[in-house]
Amino acid sequence: MKDTTIPWAVTGQSPFSSDSGSAGVMARVADFTTRVIGPRPLACRAEPPAGTPKERNGGPAAQGPSTLGFAPGNLGMIPSSDVARTPRSGRTLARFLEPLDSSAGSAHLVRQSGLLFDSDGESHELPRYQFTGPRGGGDAVRIGIFATVHGDEPESGLGLLRFLQELVQRPDAAEGFVINAYPMCNPTGYLGATRHARSGKDLNREFWRDSREPEVRLLEAELRRHQFHGIVSLHCDDTSHGLYGFLSGRNSGAVLSASLLEPALRAAEEFLPRNCDSRIDGFHARGGVLSTCYDGVLRAPDDVRPPPFEITFETPQHAAAVRQVEAFNAALLTILAEFRYLQAIGQNI
Ligand SMILES: [Zn+2]
Repeated sequence: MKDTTIPWAVTGQSPFSSDSGSAGVMARVADFTTRVIGPRPLACRAEPPAGTPKERNGGPAAQGPSTLGFAPGNLGMIPSSDVARTPRSGRTLARFLEPLDSSAGSAHLVRQSGLLFDSDGESHELPRYQFTGPRGGGDAVRIGIFATVHGDEPESGLGLLRFLQELVQRPDAAEGFVINAYPMCNPTGYLGATRHARSGKDLNREFWRDSREPEVRLLEAELRRHQFHGIVSLHCDDTSHGLYGFLSGRNSGAVLSASLLEPALRAAEEFLPRNCDSRIDGFHARGGVLSTCYDGVLRAPDDVRPPPFEITFETPQHAAAVRQVEAFNAALLTILAEFRYLQAIGQNI
């Protein structure tokens, strides 16, 4: 892939420095980005860090607020390690979603009616939430975020629930956005603690291939209906020792996707190291960014104009669930902030 120019790597300015809507989390993200990330080109850390960033910054005992304003181990409403490790026999969709559904209500967040399907004579639900941020200056930007497409990666869904909780507390972080969130895209796989759906299919190889899988058909209908400006898929990789991401669209939106993925990875590095290997998951990788990916992954229909940004964000699944959850949250907050910045500086997006 052609080198991607990250705007502030050239200008030397943090993208957040001109962000005027900087109350709450945005200010924290800006501060975090300026201090921790700084202006530098796309690159991995020179050496693998000894311990996780948090441990290097004072160890697990340093449980004070992180630079993003919340701390691992202080999640409160998301008992991620419990839920992620729930044995198969104790798994229910209601229990998975309970931390969010029982949290304080918000005028911004609506749990929409779920997408229903049958599998082996049982009825299942693919839950949907919609978060409508405060009005921005222009038309709302529609973002779709999808998690637990692989049933044995519930940390991804928990990360998405965590993000929604964050937005409930800090709606300004989503100013100008309408976010459709699908935290459990493979309920039968989750219930069975398997990557594949109960049918035996890997759902993330079935998109736009005339699949008969009901979950895929329902999600394809959502992707067609909403014509998202951006799509983020969350996954966990038990063969990776660090964070990485795919530019998972059909290339036409790759520059925008790369401009969002790199800062998302940097923000998530507050919680977990990045995988800087030259090959990840069988693909060429540079700085934890993979510009090609499998056929049949969840992505936009090919006739959406303008082409959306499309990112698949992966955490190392052997890491503590709480760190993965925080990494997902930090990445998603950063993607919103970066997209808003790029829009503000008038790039053709
Ligand atoms: Zn996966």
